Amino acid sequence: IPVDPFDLVIFGGTGDLARRKILPGLFRRFCAGQIPENSRIIAAARSEMDDDGYRDLAREAIEEFGRKKGRDKKAVKAFLKHLYYVPVDAKGEGGWKQLKERLRDDDDVVRAFYFSVGPSLFSDLAEGLQVNGLSHRDVRIVVEKPFGHDLESARELNEELAKHFHEDQIYRIDHYLGKETVQNLMAVRFGNMLFEPLWNAQYVDHIQITVSETVGVGGRGSYYDNAGAMRDMVQNHLMQLLCLIAMEPPARFEADAVRDEKLKVIRALDPVDPDQIVRGQYTSDGQMPSYREDAENPTSKTESYIALKCYISNWRWANTPFYLRTGKRLNAQASEIAVVFKDAPHSIFGIDAGRHRNVLSIRLQPNEGMTLGVTIKEPGPGGMRLVDVPLDMSFAEALGPEAEEAADAYERLIMDVIRGNQTLFMRGDEVEAAWAWTDPLIEGWERRGDSPKPYDAGSGGPDDAAFLINRDGRRWRRIQ
Ligand code: NAD
Repeated sequence: IPVDPFDLVIFGGTGDLARRKILPGLFRRFCAGQIPENSRIIAAARSEMDDDGYRDLAREAIEEFGRKKGRDKKAVKAFLKHLYYVPVDAKGEGGWKQLKERLRDDDDVVRAFYFSVGPSLFSDLAEGLQVNGLSHRDVRIVVEKPFGHDLESARELNEELAKHFHEDQIYRIDHYLGKETVQNLMAVRFGNMLFEPLWNAQYVDHIQITVSETVGVGGRGSYYDNAGAMRDMVQNHLMQLLCLIAMEPPARFEADAVRDEKLKVIRALDPVDPDQIVRGQYTSDGQMPSYREDAENPTSKTESYIALKCYISNWRWANTPFYLRTGKRLNAQASEIAVVFKDAPHSIFGIDAGRHRNVLSIRLQPNEGMTLGVTIKEPGPGGMRLVDVPLDMSFAEALGPEAEEAADAYERLIMDVIRGNQTLFMRGDEVEAAWAWTDPLIEGWERRGDSPKPYDAGSGGPDDAAFLINRDGRRWRRIQ
């Protein structure tokens, strides 16, 4: 879908996120012909630099972090012509006038501001835009995570932003929502007759959501130590996935219709008993540092791993467990949602044939795609024995090179901002509802002074996480 010409200002345009994701992503959209000729990308940050200095920085970022395929010097050079730089201090007065001069006052040019800076600057920027006369008409602002530290701070931030912008101008990023598979999840659920009739407590035994990372908290130890896996991953990414898998069909694929349904899921979540939560913290494997070393906090009780079981109290999902787990320094870098269907009510083949379950596995990484495990007869003359085979819907294989070239989450989301499509962004009330659910859980373990269970770096997490699911007669899926 083509986009209108735009002026996109990236506050924090020299930072890690801009270099790693935003600039390489915009370059790929440029190569795909999606950056209209007269569009401008204006970086604004604290460092003193001119346009040429910034273009050098952007070239290096694209070379270091961009995909190699399709990258040639001519294309990079043509892309760099769209880039400009203005030094601006979010907390001061310097630079705003120059920034204003760089923007075009033309109703046909979309104007968007990407807040790719630390969250402590979000409200300064929102105010700075208004005070300096940059936020008239339908400008859009893009806000990075984390959106608040708890319900109270999220509310305050929503109120601050609401002083200067309407909700339909605010794009809260959760890059998990920009992933190809996540959108495909909606296509599969609501575009087929096959799945939706079975998508409920009557046919689904349980659902597992796993986000497993091999990296530690490394360079962001001091931030992470104040957050932990619950705030850093569950409150946003895992809950967004939970919402998409569990929500009712929206009437239309439109921002508020989808977000209304997601909100209902969060509001229907039961509180979680403390004995249904396992928190863990990685120890050193002799080579890599332990969590406490990474966080530079020898007595830290922050969790780098969490597993929990929760329930959605509504008609569709009553008594169906949702098992969520995520952690750092684990044995695999992989994310998956698995819908595990119930056993067939009666096995006509007898016990010897074995019992099998259908599992729909939705992989977010690596190799985005879906697999449906179906049971068939084991080939050969050995009688009626059953085996599971995967019906593999790997996007790259099924759809060819175009799927392989699928846009990265960030580039897709930025283009959605330019198009004015908020479907894949979180609404303020959703974020608050998610905090309202997680806050009491966090307060609970802080009040009790619970320590996280140690787990070996490179393992699958603490043993207690296995007990959490095994005692229900179920198992975590093997993630690789
Ligand atoms: P960073 O520290 O690398 O960059 C911060 C940027 O903000 C720099 O360009 C700096 O010049 C600018 N800045 C700082 N103070 C300023 C001021 N007073 N006025 C104007 N500009 C100022 O941070 P980052 O890693 O790029 O993260 C930016 C945001 O994105 C944060 O909210 C972070 O939580 C979020 N985020 C980052 C990543 C990532 O991979 N880096 C991933 C997800 C979310």
